[in-house]
Amino acid sequence: MIKVYFIGTGGGAPNKRGLPALLLQREGLYALFDAGEGTQQRLIDSGLGFMKIRVIGISHLHGDHVLGLPGLLETMGMYSRRDKITLLGPSGLKDFLLEVFSRTHFQPNFSIEFRDSYEDADVRITKFKTCHVIESYGFLFEEKERIKIDAEKLRSEGVNDWKIIRLLKEGKRVEIGTKVLIPEDYLVKKKGVRIAYTGDTAPCASVINSVRDVDLLVHDSTFLDEKEAHDYGHSNSKDAAEVALRSNAKRLALIHISPRYDDATPLLKEALKVFEKAFLPEPFSYYVIRD
Ligand SMILES: [Zn+2]
Ligand SMILES: [Zn+2]
Repeated sequence: MIKVYFIGTGGGAPNKRGLPALLLQREGLYALFDAGEGTQQRLIDSGLGFMKIRVIGISHLHGDHVLGLPGLLETMGMYSRRDKITLLGPSGLKDFLLEVFSRTHFQPNFSIEFRDSYEDADVRITKFKTCHVIESYGFLFEEKERIKIDAEKLRSEGVNDWKIIRLLKEGKRVEIGTKVLIPEDYLVKKKGVRIAYTGDTAPCASVINSVRDVDLLVHDSTFLDEKEAHDYGHSNSKDAAEVALRSNAKRLALIHISPRYDDATPLLKEALKVFEKAFLPEPFSYYVIRD
């Protein structure tokens, strides 16, 4: 099960929706995408905390996406964090942080790794190019495919013994009297959950190609009907819906809502005309994806 927490769903200037921050919780891994100003306070207010975060992806170096990061890391240091943290992001991210750390006399007592991707036994996080006005990336979070035993099939054949199931899982043949069970006959591949977060972007092919068939697409939806949205490197909500439709996403969350909209339901209405599985996440709400 994966829980996607919409910590901050606004964009640009601080507003009641908060600034971009998306927390993914999966057993064994907490990953944060973007850390706008106020992110650590919002994580504290939501009761989620931040010490367990192992990976942080920063989409780009505009202040509304990154100004919460130095404070977050410095607080982790203050609380004597020892676990390594992996940071993914644009090329200037390391210099930006080192400069702030130097000027604020902070020396992390935990290791900070700057990488292009993250991978462990269960999960892979990669970045993809988005279409914004500066170097900018989105992130694709993917659970790896798992091999599972088809317990239902075994049960239907009268096999309930967990020892036999375990042997088959280990790839071993099992003989029960004259019956021979071949592991391949009872193994099923289980596709992992895939979630994409775009950060700031105009609708573009690079994003569509990178997020195909995701279970959840979290896409820039800054404006309702701003003619210059694409020139600003942003999307109208309808653009986000078209990207979701063309990339065959299962669900679409509209984020990075401009503070100019007190009520964002018109943005959702526009998106729903194109893609009926769009939603407007409330700040601090979460979305659960079960496998
Ligand atoms: Zn932004
Ligand atoms: Zn931006």
